[in-house]
Amino acid sequence: MSSRILPVATPAQVRAYARRLVLRHPRDLAVVLGLHALAAATGLVTPRLLGALVEDVRDGRADIDTTGLAIAGFVIVQGVLIRYAYLASAKLGERVLAELREEFVDRVLAVPLSTVERAGTGDLVTRASRDVDTLSTSVRYAMPETLVAAVVGGLTVAALMLNGPLVALPALVAVPLLVAVMRWYLPRAHRGYLRENAAWARIGDGLTETVQGSRTVEALGLAERRHERGDADIAASYKVERYTLGLRTVLFPVMEMSFVLPVVSTLLVGGLLYINDMATLAQVTAATLYAQQLIEPVDTLLQWLDELQLGGASLARLLGVGSVPPDRTPGGERPDGERITARDVHYSYRAGHDVLHGVDLDLRPGERLAMVGPSGAGKSTLGRLLAGVDGPRAGAVTVGAGGGVPLVALPLDDLRGHVALVTQEHHVFRGTLRENLVMARGDATDDDIAEVLAAVDWDGPGLDTLVGSGGETLSPAQAQQLALARLVLADPHTLVLDEATSLLDPRAARRLERSLAAVLDGRTVVAIAHRLHTAHDADRVAVVEDGRITELGTHADLLAAQGSYAALWASWRS
Ligand code: ADP
Repeated sequence: MSSRILPVATPAQVRAYARRLVLRHPRDLAVVLGLHALAAATGLVTPRLLGALVEDVRDGRADIDTTGLAIAGFVIVQGVLIRYAYLASAKLGERVLAELREEFVDRVLAVPLSTVERAGTGDLVTRASRDVDTLSTSVRYAMPETLVAAVVGGLTVAALMLNGPLVALPALVAVPLLVAVMRWYLPRAHRGYLRENAAWARIGDGLTETVQGSRTVEALGLAERRHERGDADIAASYKVERYTLGLRTVLFPVMEMSFVLPVVSTLLVGGLLYINDMATLAQVTAATLYAQQLIEPVDTLLQWLDELQLGGASLARLLGVGSVPPDRTPGGERPDGERITARDVHYSYRAGHDVLHGVDLDLRPGERLAMVGPSGAGKSTLGRLLAGVDGPRAGAVTVGAGGGVPLVALPLDDLRGHVALVTQEHHVFRGTLRENLVMARGDATDDDIAEVLAAVDWDGPGLDTLVGSGGETLSPAQAQQLALARLVLADPHTLVLDEATSLLDPRAARRLERSLAAVLDGRTVVAIAHRLHTAHDADRVAVVEDGRITELGTHADLLAAQGSYAALWASWRS
C-alpha cells in the first residue's frame, strides 16, 4: 500500500522536534510568555478584592466604590496586556510556521526520485496539503494557546495556594479524574488519528488514480470496480473516524464533570471550613472564584491537547518525509573520462523479483547505441540505471576509466554534467523562460542561453516571459525544445533517450528530430528504440530480452548472426 512507503516519524522524534520548535526563538518566546503572565496576574487580583469586599460587607465597613474602581482598573490593564500578548504570540507563530513550510519543501525536494515514484503522489500530496494545514492550525493556535493556558493555569493555582492552602485542596479533586481520562484518551487518539490520515491518503490516491486513468477506466469498463474501491476506501475512513468520534464522546462528558466538581466542592468544603473557623469568608469567596477561573485555562489545555494530537500525527508524517534514506551516497571522487560501464547489474522493483539479471554493457564514447526488445524486457529500467536515476540492487554502473566512479556516488549536479535521461515527460516550471533554463546550470549567462536556444531552433517567447501555470502556455513542441535546451545547457557527454519523440505529431516530430540531432552531436547516445529504423541507423544494437542483453553488435553483424534481432528485423520488414 502506497501510504506505507513514505515513513512516519516516531513519537520520540516528534516530541524532540516539537521541543526544538517551541524553543527556536527563546527571546520572542520569553516576551510572549512574560506578557501573558502579567495579564494573567492582573486578572488574579479581582477574586481577592471581591473576597475582601464580601467580608467587609458582612462587617458593615465596605467601600464598594473604591473596590469597584480598582477592579475596573485591573480589568482595563489586563485587556491592554492581553492585546499585546496575543499580537506577540501571533507574530511568533507565523514566523515559526513560515520556517516549517520552508523546511518541509526542503524535505520533499530531498526525497529520492525512486521513492517518490514508488510511493505515488497521493500520499505526498496529502502530506503537503492536509497535514501542512493541520500543523499550521497547531502552530498558529494550539501551541501558543496551550503555552498561555499553562501559564495562566499555573499562576491561578499559585494564587489559590497563596489565598490559603486548606481552601485550595477541594479544587484539586478533579485532577485524578482528568489525569485518568487523558491517559486513557491520548495514546488511543494518537493511533486513531494516524489511521484517519492514512485512510484519507488512500481516498486521495484512489481518486487521483481514477481521474488520471479515466481513459483506461472507460476503455476497459472499470468504472464499477473503481466505484467499489472508492466505496471501500470511504467505508474504511468512516470506520476510523467513528473510532475517534467514540473516543471524544467519552472524553467530553468527563471533562465537563471535572470542571463543575472543583467549584462545587470548594464552595461546600469551604463552607464547612468557614463554619468551623478554619477559613475566612474572604478566603472561601476567593477560592471559589479561582476554582471557577481555572476552568478556562484547563479547558483550553485539554481542547488543544486534542488538536495538538492531530498536529502531532501530521508532524509525524511531515517529519517522516525527511527520513527517507537517500538513494545516493556522494563520495567526492571525480571520474576521469566519459566511458559509462555497466557491470553485472541486477535491479528489482520488489524484493525478490529481479527485472534485470546481470547486465554487462560498455558504452563507447561518441557511439550511438540502440536498445531493442519486447515490451517489458527491461529496456526502460536499464536506461534509468545507465542515466544514474536509480542505483542497481547489485553490480555497478560507473563513469570514467579504470573501474570508474559509480553514478550513484556522484552528487546530482555533477551527475547531470555526465549523463541525462530524456523522456516524454518534461515540465515547464512556473517562472520566466530564463529561470526555466538556468535551473540546468546555475552559472549560465544570457549569451550561453541564447546559444542553446539557437541550437534547438527556438521560436517561442523571450527570456523574460512568464511561462508555466498562470503564464504563457507553450506548445508541446516548444515544451520539448525547452527540455532539450536545458539538456544542452547541462551539457552531459552521454544521453539516454526513452520514447523521446513518440507523442508529437509528425511535423513537430521532424522539427524536434532536427533540434535533437544538434543536441546529440558529439555525445554518446543510448536510444531505446521503438521503431527499428532507429536501430538500423545506430552504430551498435543491443537486444534486451527478459532482463538480459542477449545480442550486441552492429546491425549487419546481428542480421548475419540470424538470432532474435534478425527475426525482429525480418518481421518488421515484411
Ligand atoms: P521495457 O522498457 O523493456 O518495456 P521496463 O523496464 O519498463 O521494460 O520493465 C521491465 C519490468 O519491470 C517489467 O516486468 C515491468 O512490469 C517491471 N516494472 C517496470 N516499472 C516498474 C515499476 N515502477 N514498479 C514495478 N515494476 C515495474
